[in-house]
Amino acid sequence: MDKKALVVLSGGQDSTTCLFWAIERFGKENTAAIGFDYGQRHKAELVCAEKICADVGIEFEIVETPIINQLSPNSLTREDIPVEKEKPEGTPPNTFVEGRNLLFLSYAAIYAKTHGMTELVTGVCETDFSGYPDCRDMFVKSLNVTLNLAMDYNFVIHTPLMWLTKADTWELADKLGILDIVYNETLTCYNGIIGEGCGDCPACFLRKRGYDEYMKRKEN
Ligand code: ZN
Repeated sequence: MDKKALVVLSGGQDSTTCLFWAIERFGKENTAAIGFDYGQRHKAELVCAEKICADVGIEFEIVETPIINQLSPNSLTREDIPVEKEKPEGTPPNTFVEGRNLLFLSYAAIYAKTHGMTELVTGVCETDFSGYPDCRDMFVKSLNVTLNLAMDYNFVIHTPLMWLTKADTWELADKLGILDIVYNETLTCYNGIIGEGCGDCPACFLRKRGYDEYMKRKEN
């Protein structure tokens, strides 16, 4: 029997690249996506995700998780907390949502098992990460074991971007033939501007720096 995959999709560069990675690996008919509405300021990212899935013909489920904002207010969910430009030394930036990947992957696993899917795909990445502890490889491996024990099921969590730089992620998108889709139709910007973004926030900075680096590499 074919393996079925569920991609945790936010509508950003990384998870969108993962969606197409999963489609290539498991086949379109065996791939679905799940997104989380946790009160993020920019619902536009879920709209991006929805459009990309509709265009490619993938099922996309949006799950409401307002509890995340209730437990841990942060600058991605609260208008009155501005996004920090400079990350404080030794602590995650205030865009960090405590336990977010733990919860998202757990919710995704519950949904996946209910729908007979074993493969979970997430765009978390240790290389360019901003100090988010639940983006680390060790955490994902640990959670994989925990989920398998918790649900008596053989999940495999795939992290295709774990050791890639932002430039490498652009390269992967290019190899998958989706550079234009990622460039124009995804939302990474903390200020909610699709595609090229505001150019001013930390997310835009990392995205653009990676893109420029990849373009330079490609030319040579
Ligand atoms: Zn921005």
